Amino acid sequence: MNKKQTGDFCIFCGRTENQVDLLVHSELGLGCVCSDCAELLNQMIKETRHKKAVKETENYTLKTPSEIKAYLDQYVIGQDRAKKVLSVAVYNHFKRLKYFHSNQKKDDVEIDKSNIIMVGETGTGKTLLAKTIARLLDVPFCIADATVLTEAGYVGEDVETILTRLLQAADYDVEKAKRGIVFIDEIDKIARKSDNPSITRDVSGEGVQQALLKLLEGTIVNVPPQGGRKHPDQKYIQVDTRNILFIAAGAFDGIERKISARLNSNAIGYSAREVRGKIDKDNLLQYIQPQDLKSYGLIPELIGRFPVLTHLDRLDKDALKRILTEPKNSLVKQYKKLFAMDNVELEFEPKALDYFVSLASEYKLGARGLKGIIETVVMDLMFSAPDDRTARQITITAKYAKEQISKHGDKLFSSKR
Ligand code: ADP
Repeated sequence: MNKKQTGDFCIFCGRTENQVDLLVHSELGLGCVCSDCAELLNQMIKETRHKKAVKETENYTLKTPSEIKAYLDQYVIGQDRAKKVLSVAVYNHFKRLKYFHSNQKKDDVEIDKSNIIMVGETGTGKTLLAKTIARLLDVPFCIADATVLTEAGYVGEDVETILTRLLQAADYDVEKAKRGIVFIDEIDKIARKSDNPSITRDVSGEGVQQALLKLLEGTIVNVPPQGGRKHPDQKYIQVDTRNILFIAAGAFDGIERKISARLNSNAIGYSAREVRGKIDKDNLLQYIQPQDLKSYGLIPELIGRFPVLTHLDRLDKDALKRILTEPKNSLVKQYKKLFAMDNVELEFEPKALDYFVSLASEYKLGARGLKGIIETVVMDLMFSAPDDRTARQITITAKYAKEQISKHGDKLFSSKR
């Protein structure tokens, strides 16, 4: 019988089993494909994906900075300066992407990347800002924690695993990942441990900063698809990081002292008193400059790769109160929705909300603490509400909230006392 009729030939090139290196059979008996054609197909898929991604970028309608900010305003309270700076940086990033794709012949103007670094106390909205932007732009987004990274060869994770997360977020579509946003949290934790550059090895500090440089500036990086340690036998996915936007954030505890020292030393002489008088000592972060990050222990090369530096304000009581109710998915709205599913119309007495805010503020729990507080207060109700199916209304009063906190609130404050 003719071999071709038995199906033992490549359905793409027609060659038979003995004419090719390998013939892979379809498990359903639908035909075969040879290894050469499989590789060619793989290449064609990559190219088609790339063309599709380029086309998408070219057709992408750029959101203007004010549109980006208006979107952020729906989810993030306050932080006006950071929102503006981020909106412009993201806008420029996408302009750069468009330019990059439409300007293949390259004139001599190259637009630099605008990686961003945000400095602000924990729980002030740094992650929220980055996440919200990624949602608006509909690009793959991942959060990487700098504290788990170590210099290659040491216990911990290689910096390349950051990109593994991005690939996962992009469903392993490399073309999509190449235009994604990576949020590196706790960047302050890889600050150099001492002012002396490496007397002893600093594998989780300066070593990691050095390793991050190549990722940030834009090269082709070998990424282990499953993360973990790089391994010589592992197959890597190559990711070009030139168009990935990196947003780093950190609390930089104590950096105010460095800012203040710089401001004071700058203000020597004739108008010193006048300058000092104008400084808002309660919000020194607003004066942050790249050299403060250097005094804190980031190496200049790393700082240089984050041309956009911005700060987040501390959240005062007023901001905390607004966070409870105003954002599109505010905590109050979320709990109302949860209860509505059990036929309960949940209300919060304004005084109860004030109480949550004063607790969060007094114990320095920040916005993140608000969720823990409300969760503790409504826990008993969430337990019992589903048993009664009749429609009803429940109002959380300040008195009820205080009772619940005094009964069950210990855990909320144990680490803060
Ligand atoms: P950070 O990254 O600065 O440590 P997050 O962005 O993770 O803080 O904030 C923690 C949570 O607190 C958020 O998920 C959000 O619910 C709330 N939150 C913090 N800051 C704000 C803000 N400015 N506006 C609205 N919600 C906020």
